Amino acid sequence: MNTEQIDVLVIGAGPSGTVAASIINKAGYTVKIVEKEQFPRFVIGESLLPRCMEALDEAGFLPALKEKGFQEKFGAKFINSQKEVMDFNFSDQYTKGWTWTWQVKRADFDHALAQEVEKMGVPVEYKTAVTNIEFSGTDSVTTVTTPDGGTKQIKARFIVDGSGYGRVIPRMFNMERPSELPSRKALFTHVRDTRRMNYVEPNRILIVDHQPGVWIWGIPVSDGTTSCGVVSDAKFFEDFPGTPEEQLRAIIASDINIKERFEGCEFLFEPRVLQSWSASCDKFYGDGFVLTGNVTEFLDPVFSSGVTLAVTSSQIAANLVIKQLNGEEVDWQKEYMDRMMIGVNAFRTYVLAWYDGSLQKIFFNEDRPQDNVRKICSVLAGYVWDDTNPFVRDSQNCVNRLIRMIDLNKKIIAFNNS
Ligand SMILES: Cc1cc2nc3c(=O)[nH]c(=O)nc-3n(C[C@H](O)[C@H](O)[C@H](O)COP(=O)(O)OP(=O)(O)OC[C@H]3O[C@@H](n4cnc5c(N)ncnc54)[C@H](O)[C@@H]3O)c2cc1C
Repeated sequence: MNTEQIDVLVIGAGPSGTVAASIINKAGYTVKIVEKEQFPRFVIGESLLPRCMEALDEAGFLPALKEKGFQEKFGAKFINSQKEVMDFNFSDQYTKGWTWTWQVKRADFDHALAQEVEKMGVPVEYKTAVTNIEFSGTDSVTTVTTPDGGTKQIKARFIVDGSGYGRVIPRMFNMERPSELPSRKALFTHVRDTRRMNYVEPNRILIVDHQPGVWIWGIPVSDGTTSCGVVSDAKFFEDFPGTPEEQLRAIIASDINIKERFEGCEFLFEPRVLQSWSASCDKFYGDGFVLTGNVTEFLDPVFSSGVTLAVTSSQIAANLVIKQLNGEEVDWQKEYMDRMMIGVNAFRTYVLAWYDGSLQKIFFNEDRPQDNVRKICSVLAGYVWDDTNPFVRDSQNCVNRLIRMIDLNKKIIAFNNS
């Protein structure tokens, strides 16, 4: 069988794979990406967060991305069924960092990253899927299927698994752990957003609190189309019979915030369904490999954290891989997994508070203290490793305290008015 030898094999050419490959390649190691699909390929997840720009910058991707003219994103607008609005502006946040990012069609964005990493000298082998890995210490031999239907082996000194929902290493080595979050379902498509310009801030991402436990996204991108989807538990969808298109059209028509804008819009593809996406695994590393991106822990789409966690984990992991290949000691638990979990756990607080409805008490209350809003804004910008921010460091207590304060204020106002 055909066998080749490289320093680092990266599985998956999504954002986590290409960011890791670029950073390791720049350090002078030989890197190759194997990717199961042919690019461009569809993947959901159009809304990025400002923190991801730091990882894209270190990977050297920003100049090429800027040339693509993707829709710029400066904040996020939350709205509820009483039409109360919480509009976050990333320029008004606690953490000093990026104040903008992009809303992108992921097929185009991921393809741009893959093309750029190839220009940097990293081969990307498409239609090449990993089917087996054998480790011997930190060295490995990976078997892949090739586009011509054959197989070959790749020997590597280290593997970065950025295989997303493929979860190659966790599945192969029995490392998967069920998520603590309940299973949810999403139904989504891209629509031709012809009425966009009738609205104030037509390009702002919209997160609509449709009813308890059910929310709808609208993410406008630069070609005049908008990603639109609904997330809930599976039971909610049972009230909407018919095809996926009929279901999504009926849900759009039932929402006072998006009905006018999206009712009757052309759908660019038959709405797709994804469900039970939350996943985790025992460890994010092992002898000779590290897991990055969605393979590690993916919580929920509500705060658009997926790509940011994907590229930030890759940025941190890639630098640790370089350190290890340089012959230095790496404490993977402390320097990687514990660090990643700080960000994951901060996001988890807000995801749980969104679904139990308590976060909405903060968002849709005009008495929310602006100083606290700025700190929450930094979380929503992806700055979930800034331990000077109490809404990161002690997220649960801060959120609980703020909700108690808002509740108390409401009672005082009600008492004074009685
Ligand atoms: C409903 C929903 C909405 C979302 N919305 C957002 C959003 O607005 N913003 C956001 O940031 N995130 C969002 N996400 C999350 C986002 O989709 C992911 O977090 C993101 O794509 C992760 O990037 P990644 O590089 O880890 O994986 P991916 O982008 O999935 O890339 C992994 C790659 O690995 C390849 N692969 C898989 N198996 C193999 C194999 N055996 N061999 C070789 N290659 C393989 C795949 O083909 C794929 O191209 C959403 C998720 C869901 C479920």
